[in-house]
Amino acid sequence: MIIAGAGLAGLVAAARARELGASPRLVEKGDRVGGSMVLSSGVIWRHRRFEDFRCECPGGDEALQRLVWERLDEGLAWLRELGAPVVWEETGNPLTTGLRFEPRGLTLALLGAAELNVDGCTVAEAGEPIILATGGFAASSGLIAEHIKPASPLRLRGNRWSEGDGLRLALARGAATTAGLDEFYGRAMPSAEWGEAEFVSASALFGRFARIFASDGTEFMKADEVWWSEANLAQAIARQPGATAYFVLDAAGLAGRVREQTVGGMVTAMPAAARVDLADLPFPVPAGAVAAVKVVAAITHTVGGVRIDTQARVLDREGTPIPGLYAAGVDAGGIATGGYASGLAQALVLGLVAAESAA
Ligand SMILES: Cc1cc2nc3c(=O)[nH]c(=O)nc-3n(C[C@H](O)[C@H](O)[C@H](O)COP(=O)(O)OP(=O)(O)OC[C@H]3O[C@@H](n4cnc5c(N)ncnc54)[C@H](O)[C@@H]3O)c2cc1C
Repeated sequence: MIIAGAGLAGLVAAARARELGASPRLVEKGDRVGGSMVLSSGVIWRHRRFEDFRCECPGGDEALQRLVWERLDEGLAWLRELGAPVVWEETGNPLTTGLRFEPRGLTLALLGAAELNVDGCTVAEAGEPIILATGGFAASSGLIAEHIKPASPLRLRGNRWSEGDGLRLALARGAATTAGLDEFYGRAMPSAEWGEAEFVSASALFGRFARIFASDGTEFMKADEVWWSEANLAQAIARQPGATAYFVLDAAGLAGRVREQTVGGMVTAMPAAARVDLADLPFPVPAGAVAAVKVVAAITHTVGGVRIDTQARVLDREGTPIPGLYAAGVDAGGIATGGYASGLAQALVLGLVAAESAA
C-alpha cells in the first residue's frame, strides 16, 4: 500500500494500516512531515448537532458528512490512546465539540504508531493500493485560477506542497470530481509580509465587527452576512479587485471581542503596513470610522476535490469505485461544500476509513 502525503490524513492512514497488519509506504513530497496540520491550531471538531453541520455546509455529500460526524469521537479517542497531546478539552465554540491537540506532538505520536520512515519512492507496484492524501490544490496557482477564479492570485496560508497531485492522478484514472471546486477555506490576512509562523496569530478574524469595502469603495459584504468562521468573507475578498479589502471600524467595532482578545488589540497588533490612516483610504471615510486595515484573501485549503464513497474509494463518473484507489483528507472533496467544517476532522476520519478499506 502506498500513501501519498504525510499530513494528518496520510499519517492517520499509515498508523491505522500498520495497526491492521499492513506495511504501508508513506510518500512525502515536502521537506518535512505534518502537512498543513503541523501549522494549524490543532482543533479537531464537529458540530454538536448533525442538523447544524447540514445547515452550515448545505452543498456537501450528506453520507460523507454523517460518516465524519459519527466516527469523529472514536477517532479522537484513538489519537489520545496513541499518546497525542491534548491541550484543550473543548473547542471554545458552544456549537461544536472536539479537542485541541498540540500539532507537533500529534505528528510525532502518529509517526511513532506508524513505525515507519517516510519513503521517497513514488512508484506503485502493479495492483498496489494507493491512498491519496496530498492535501488538495491550495498551492497550485494554475488550478486555483482554473477552478476558484480569484480576481488576483491568492496568498497561501497552508503548506507549500499541496499542488493538486492527488487530483491529477485521480483524474488520469477516470475519477469524478465533487461540487465546490470553486470554493476554498481561508482567512483575511494583513496586506503585509507574513510567514508560516504567523498563519494563526496574524489572521484578521474580525471582519464581522467591521464595515467591509473593496478598494473602489464598494461595500461588498455586510458584517451580519459574515459567518462565524469568516470563511465566506475570505472567498468574497478573493473576488474583489486585487483580492484585497479594507476593514473599517468604529468605536463599537473596536470594543468587540474575539475570544480573549479585543478587536482594538488585534488591530494594534497588526503589521504597520496593513494599518491604514483614514485619510489614506482610497474612498470617502465612512461616518464614525476610527480605524482601518487593509487585508488580502489567503487560501488554507480547497473544498472540492475527488469524489469518494463512504469507504473512501475513489469513484468514476458512473459512480463505480476505481480499483485500488482511495482518497482522504482535503483530496476527498465535497464534504464542507457551501460552508465550513473541520478539515482536521475530515482528515482524521477519512484517514482511518481509507486504511481500513485498503488494508
Ligand atoms: C494556520 C492553519 C490553521 C488551521 N487550523 C485548523 C483547526 O484548528 N482545525 C481544523 O480542523 N483545521 C485547521 N486547519 C486546516 C487543517 O490543517 C487541514 O484541513 C488538514 O491539515 C488537512 O489534512 P490533509 O492530510 O488532507 O492535508 P495536509 O495536512 O496539508 O497534508 C498534505 C500532505 O501531502 C503532501 N503532498 C502533497 N503532494 C504530494 C505528493 N505528490 N506526494 C507526496 N506527498 C505530497 C504535502 O506536502 C503534505 O505534507 C488549519 C490550517 C492552517 C494552515
